[in-house]
Amino acid sequence: MTGRITGISGPTVSVDLKGLRLYDRVTVGHTRLMGEVVRLEQDRAVVQVYEDTRGLGMGEPVVGVEMPLTVRLGPGLLNQMFDGLQRHLEWLYQEGGPFIHAGKESPPLESVKPWRFFPLKKQGDEIRIGEPLGYVEEGAFKHYIHAVDTEGTIARIVAGEFSLEDPLASLENGRQIFAFHQWPVRRPRPYRRKLYQAEPLITGQRCIDFLFPLARGGTAIFPGGFGTGKTILEQTIAKFADAEIVIYVGCGERGNEMAEMLEEFSTLSDPWTDRPLMTRTIVVVNTSNMPVAAREASIYTAVTMAEYYRDMGYNVLLLADSLSRWAEALREISSALEEMPGEEGYPTYLASRMAEFFARAGVVETLDGKTGSLTMILSISPPGGDFTEPVTQACLRTTGAFFMLDTTLAHRRHFPAINWFQSFSLYEEEVSSHFNERINPKWGALKQECRELLQREEGLREVAEIVGTEGLQDADRLLMKVAEDVRQSFLAQNAYTEDAFSPPEQTFEKISTLLEFYRCARQRLEKGEFLDEVLKECE
Ligand code: ADP
Ligand code: MG
Repeated sequence: MTGRITGISGPTVSVDLKGLRLYDRVTVGHTRLMGEVVRLEQDRAVVQVYEDTRGLGMGEPVVGVEMPLTVRLGPGLLNQMFDGLQRHLEWLYQEGGPFIHAGKESPPLESVKPWRFFPLKKQGDEIRIGEPLGYVEEGAFKHYIHAVDTEGTIARIVAGEFSLEDPLASLENGRQIFAFHQWPVRRPRPYRRKLYQAEPLITGQRCIDFLFPLARGGTAIFPGGFGTGKTILEQTIAKFADAEIVIYVGCGERGNEMAEMLEEFSTLSDPWTDRPLMTRTIVVVNTSNMPVAAREASIYTAVTMAEYYRDMGYNVLLLADSLSRWAEALREISSALEEMPGEEGYPTYLASRMAEFFARAGVVETLDGKTGSLTMILSISPPGGDFTEPVTQACLRTTGAFFMLDTTLAHRRHFPAINWFQSFSLYEEEVSSHFNERINPKWGALKQECRELLQREEGLREVAEIVGTEGLQDADRLLMKVAEDVRQSFLAQNAYTEDAFSPPEQTFEKISTLLEFYRCARQRLEKGEFLDEVLKECE
């Protein structure tokens, strides 16, 4: 299938190719740039091109691949770094240096590397779609190989060493099963059913775990203006979260931040297993200097890999920094397509696209009856820190947790700058029993106490502004003092110190000590002792 370029507009080109389907992949121009069909009209198709369109000329050839944009799924994805189209960045670098050359292909998986296969089926067994044929040890993980698009009776199955080029099994109907397959990134992977979310996802951030806990399979967004600590928070959670697999998408942000992160990550261990952090991590990079359309694709590439590991029964965490850059890419493409713009130039389907993306999170019963989860934590960068803008608003409608990053807190160097009055988590009730049962039965009660303390401090602060702290009663001064401690030594966590990670037991211990001190001091005040003495003695 070959046609010609009939028009070029920013990241999109028009082509006269017949027989294309929506979302088919094509190669564009002499340099064979990758593109995807985003609109079909009577006599033309519009293609969004994933690479720089500069230098493309009218009449250059366009070839249909007769396949949508897919990712390759198989052993070897962990511990790797890909671009938004799942091209292997390290191999591209080895071949062509620091700049990605247009039209360059770089398969994500090493095809000749030997793997060991442990079959779970034998010759003569039946295999159904979604059932595991066996597994490969990918680091510490059992990487299950499922039948994806074919089923039947097994005629031949291998065991032991193989490479991705070799089939693992042949069926009596003549079909073969390989250790990898392709999956269209825009199509959610199937599962049996969604399950209720009742387990927390521990982030190691006290403010989140204690006040606004996240559930496995849930979604959280944190919007914040420039410098409010979005990137640091995403990276800190990527290091410490209690997830088996972590997929980190650097979407449209600065490249040097990603470089620093990778360097740091390569020296760290997963605090839950002590294994090297990168062996549970996949990084997808589409930084600000990389083409815009590939940025649009990058979150789909990432979520599809995330679903793939979810389907093996793992708890997967997808982090993206930032979703706003993805939305901006969508806007740029939409405007090149001359679509009717919605609010602030974003396409009218912004909210529905986002909702579709968020819907790929969840706890599921997989096709073979395992339980897997996909949790999403996404940062948003509202221009000027204005939360009424369309991207924040669209996310707010679908997300389960909202951590508002506060510019004032960031200015005061209170990090993570999560505003404790304006943030929320809809998972609080679902996961509360877990904390009460597994960590401490007082977890919920202390949380309530902590909230009230912060609330009363806020009220007192206004009074103190008028009469001065000295003008307050001792009981109120005590409250202000304790609340300050709660903010500074409990809610705040410096990402550059040991305190960056706080397991739930430690989180509980800390708040419990602070509130116990408050209780003790209050009692003594009531007995008529002076505040200064009480403060000394209760320490
Ligand atoms: P954003 O991505 O929102 O623009 P960054 O994540 O780059 O902001 O954070 C800006 C700066 O704030 C960082 O360079 C760091 O100095 C400081 N910072 C943010 N979070 C923390 C934290 N948890 N602990 C200590 N410093 C932090
Ligand atoms: Mg940032």
